[in-house]
Amino acid sequence: MPQYKAPLRDVRFLLNEVFDYPAHYAQLPSAEDATPDMVDAILEGCATFCEEVLAPLNLSGDQEGCTIADGEVTTPKGFKEAYAEYVAGGWQGLSHPKEYGGQELPMSMNLLKAEMMGTANWSFTMYPGLSLGCMNTVFQFGSTEQKNTYMPKLVSGEWTGTMCLTEPQCGTDLGQVKTKAEPAGDGTYKITGTKIFISAGEHDLAENIVHIVLARLPDAPKGTRGISLFIVPKFLINADGSLGARNTVKAGALEHKMGIRASATCVMNFDEAVGYMIAEPNKGLEAMFTFMNTARIGTAVQGLAHAELSYQGSLPYAKERRSMRALSGKKDADHVADALIWHADVRRMLLTQRAVAEGARAMIYHAAKLADMMVAGVAEGNQAQYEEYDDKLGFYTPILKGFITEMGLECANLGMQVFGGHGYIKEHGMEQIARDARISTLYEGTTGIQALDLLGRKVLLQTRGKCIFNFTNEMIAQAKPHLLSGGAIGTMARACFKRAMQWKALTLRIMLRANKDRDIVSAACYDYLMYSGFVMMGHFWLKQALVAQDKLARGGKDSKEFYTAKLQTAEFYFERLLPRADGHKKSMLSPTRSVMQMDQEHFSFI
Ligand SMILES: Cc1cc2nc3c(=O)[nH]c(=O)nc-3n(C[C@H](O)[C@H](O)[C@H](O)COP(=O)(O)OP(=O)(O)OC[C@H]3O[C@@H](n4cnc5c(N)ncnc54)[C@H](O)[C@@H]3O)c2cc1C
Repeated sequence: MPQYKAPLRDVRFLLNEVFDYPAHYAQLPSAEDATPDMVDAILEGCATFCEEVLAPLNLSGDQEGCTIADGEVTTPKGFKEAYAEYVAGGWQGLSHPKEYGGQELPMSMNLLKAEMMGTANWSFTMYPGLSLGCMNTVFQFGSTEQKNTYMPKLVSGEWTGTMCLTEPQCGTDLGQVKTKAEPAGDGTYKITGTKIFISAGEHDLAENIVHIVLARLPDAPKGTRGISLFIVPKFLINADGSLGARNTVKAGALEHKMGIRASATCVMNFDEAVGYMIAEPNKGLEAMFTFMNTARIGTAVQGLAHAELSYQGSLPYAKERRSMRALSGKKDADHVADALIWHADVRRMLLTQRAVAEGARAMIYHAAKLADMMVAGVAEGNQAQYEEYDDKLGFYTPILKGFITEMGLECANLGMQVFGGHGYIKEHGMEQIARDARISTLYEGTTGIQALDLLGRKVLLQTRGKCIFNFTNEMIAQAKPHLLSGGAIGTMARACFKRAMQWKALTLRIMLRANKDRDIVSAACYDYLMYSGFVMMGHFWLKQALVAQDKLARGGKDSKEFYTAKLQTAEFYFERLLPRADGHKKSMLSPTRSVMQMDQEHFSFI
């Protein structure tokens, strides 16, 4: 079973040496508490909580799962106590306003926390994670009264929240939502309908659950323009803030699912439940998607988490387990056979996991800085700043969510593969990682939907390629000074330069073709997304390699081994993973004919 250890050396490398977070926090408004010492103390505290409290519940939580009786859900043993400890530690309100009892640290601190918690125990992380979406919505769109009623309890973690979008007939296409909201005549609404797949919809961790629900008013236009947003608490709140009557919203069932079994995924039945409108009528979907970028980057963290955990699980096994002799001759002569780690194919699997985890972490830490700037815009009422950074984040989001979760899933499978048949056996905990990782490419917008968002919306419709040109210009600026360098850095810089030029050209070709053949957007988007992911990760690997090279050149007291291994992992990425971009390039440029020509009736002759 993987014994999770928070990768603090790599975290500090990225925070302090690559992205200069101390300078970033110093210029961020209201981040005066985020001093380097404070940030380090939070990282240490979070690591201890994750290693000692959450990680030990990961396997047992999966084995036990959640149970339901008469609409009440019981979480696995230990979850309630762990959640109480989480609340007592003030972890939920880390990045929320002091006005509501939070610590008001930058949003990025929340993402750092989410990585450690999610790697230790993704199922547990779902409970406080869904509350974040709920809090963001109430904070941004709630009336003063709604904020005062709900925010303090959500920020403290005494109450949790949900996001109730999905219904049996629709998950992606929310224009089909049927749940009804009828005015009750007293300013409240009666909410009636069924939502499915609702994470943390019901559980025993908190005394109240605040549902954010998409529903339609009686006279609402059809489609996405007729959806409104409502707060529906499990227990109504009395005027003095105490809990009142039980609302008529109840968990009808728990979904039986492949992974994240300790996370309660519920069918929620609303039977004329009391709801309070939030945001303007028929503008619910827009409001819901306000903080979508940060929610989706939160799911990208899941890809990183599973890549890291599978690496941490498979590395010790590869050092201990012995099989045959290395092709280049005996390595462990005193033993009956050499350790797995001597075999090149096993090293390929280990290094892939490491390169993906560390590459993804760098991509996410970069995006987290943008998220801080966006949130600062909201906090200061600076709409222009909010929009500027939301747009920037909007470009990274589908690539991070789509690419990192797909790669996290691949890494989870590689971790199992290192264990051979033992990876398939439950007691080692490796198959659990693969099962838990599987959902990450499905919820918060499937990979296909992320790919359509990137190519269709962000590249073609909204920016006519500008978002790609801006990013590739950054790639070129980083690579250019090193094009004539010798050794690995020169090779990597030239690869980045070449890929940046290629990405621009590819984007132009797809744009021209899309004018004549609309199907190309859907036919090419997956390959375009994966191509973009591989190339973007290359840029962030070069960034890390440049710092590592510089540190090595300067000497000093820092460990030489860390920087050498960093450079070696970067080399592996450029030689073994980045070339996969070529396959995606070829595939995306192929005509749509072979995808679209087959008659629907001819897909099967059974
Ligand atoms: C464990 C779990 C937890 C979840 N938690 C929540 C939650 O807390 N709250 C909530 O509201 N929902 C939640 N969901 C629902 C989840 O977000 C949806 O399942 C997801 O958005 C996909 O919707 P769908 O299942 O209806 O698939 P569909 O929308 O039916 O999609 C099916 C397939 O068709 C593809 N597709 C759909 N439309 C297009 C298109 N226009 N072009 C190309 N391809 C397309 C999709 O990519 C996918 O491959 C959860 C789901 C699970 C399994």
